[in-house]
Amino acid sequence: KWRSGREIRQLFIDFWVSKGAHHYDSFSLVPEDPTLLFTIAGMVPFKKYYLGIAEPDFPSAVTSQKCVRTNDIDNVGRTARHHTFFEMLGNFSWGGYFKRESITWGWEFLTDVIGLDGDRMYVTIYNDDQEAFDIWHKEVGVPEDHILRFGEEENFWFMGPTGPCGPDSEILYDQGPSFSCGPDCAPGCDCDRYLEIWNHVFTQYDRQDDGSLVPLPRKNIDTGMGLERLTSLVQGVANDFETDLFKPIMDQVCSMAGISYGATPQGDMAAKVISDHIRAVAFMIADGILPANDGQGYVLRRLLRRAARYGRLIGLKGAFLTDLLPKVLEIMGDPYRELKDSRLTIEQVVSVEEKRFGRTLEQGSDLLHSEIEALAAEGEATLSGVVAFELYDTYGYPLELTMEICQEKGFVVDEEGFRGEMEAQRQRARASSKQANSVMTGDLYTELLASHGPTPFVGYSSLCCESEIT
Ligand code: ATP
Ligand code: MG
Ligand code: MG
Ligand code: MG
Repeated sequence: KWRSGREIRQLFIDFWVSKGAHHYDSFSLVPEDPTLLFTIAGMVPFKKYYLGIAEPDFPSAVTSQKCVRTNDIDNVGRTARHHTFFEMLGNFSWGGYFKRESITWGWEFLTDVIGLDGDRMYVTIYNDDQEAFDIWHKEVGVPEDHILRFGEEENFWFMGPTGPCGPDSEILYDQGPSFSCGPDCAPGCDCDRYLEIWNHVFTQYDRQDDGSLVPLPRKNIDTGMGLERLTSLVQGVANDFETDLFKPIMDQVCSMAGISYGATPQGDMAAKVISDHIRAVAFMIADGILPANDGQGYVLRRLLRRAARYGRLIGLKGAFLTDLLPKVLEIMGDPYRELKDSRLTIEQVVSVEEKRFGRTLEQGSDLLHSEIEALAAEGEATLSGVVAFELYDTYGYPLELTMEICQEKGFVVDEEGFRGEMEAQRQRARASSKQANSVMTGDLYTELLASHGPTPFVGYSSLCCESEIT
């Protein structure tokens, strides 16, 4: 049965609430935990309960958590299932229900509530987890040849060398041979055919200094399932970008560019990257992130600029990213009020960034391509750190963007050289900031200061006298 992404999100929440879970709204993309740049999974806001350093207010919970995974940037558009920003549906238990319930209820949700075909599902378990095998096989009725056993690498979860850890079990859905990645593709293959939809983690051990596993007095459950993937199965489409969570954005990108989806792989790729990144950008700004040269703000800037460059590849210029924001709000603004509340800020930030980078994107591209031609002529394969830094500093190219463009042409970038240039500039800036004695932050202001020089404040002695304002 066809259902909207929105309905599926709500069904998941209602289902776990009916099993006694407390529903929390999504937590911020910026975690409390300073060791992480972004919330990368539903369990991140609850990490303290898993570590046992805080007591949960409820024995079990359910969320649809906003997540950002930068490690998946290069997968976006290349696979059917990866995004930078996505929603992770998750059920959590801290000393409440455990493995049996998580598995059997999870299965009940997928088959009874959502109506997925159980015969097309495979499950993976950790080698030694006989308990999980018995539940899947004897209680749920999954045939033995649909239960795959893997080792630590694939099916054992831990946060660090010691502390809470445990086996996990993943649910895969066979999308059929048309999704196969090649002749060696088999159940458990890490591709779009055996689509990984849901990971159930059974945090049941406390790993000691000597490596031994001691059972935790209070066993925990932590699961995560990508809403976009599940929606693609329910809606019977080839990839997440064809679901109603993305389709209106994709359609607008294609119509603005005057291309048809499905016409060329390059066009589709660009439309997917742009549709993915604009969602990430909107949500990041709504959670208070602003473009910057480091931290979360750098990732935001990198995504914006990468999207702008992909736009150029399909002929999109001007403020096309800003123009896409109403669509993002239309799809996501109801479940995520923060988007509506921050609408003006989001529009302004995207528009300013887009204009700033838009001015230098082409010039940078000309420079980069002539450098690449020169390298090719000399039979060299490495773009110098000096050029990469000039692209960064003068034309606003994030290093990763330069690296990606070089890679497409078969070149690499001297990253170390780049960092050296960066450090040298930092030293210069440090020396000059002693003189400027500026308290302003943000590179927009640094830039203004650099191009216009300091402006003395004359308001104490004079209210309006143009000649005094230098
Ligand atoms: P994959 O193997 O497909 O990269 P994963 O094993 O890295 O996924 P987990 O860390 O197990 O993913 O996260 C739990 C669930 O979150 C996954 O089963 C999947 O449904 C979803 N998920 C993970 N990464 C992404 C992503 N980049 N975009 C969308 N959904 C994702
Ligand atoms: Mg992954
Ligand atoms: Mg995986
Ligand atoms: Mg996984």
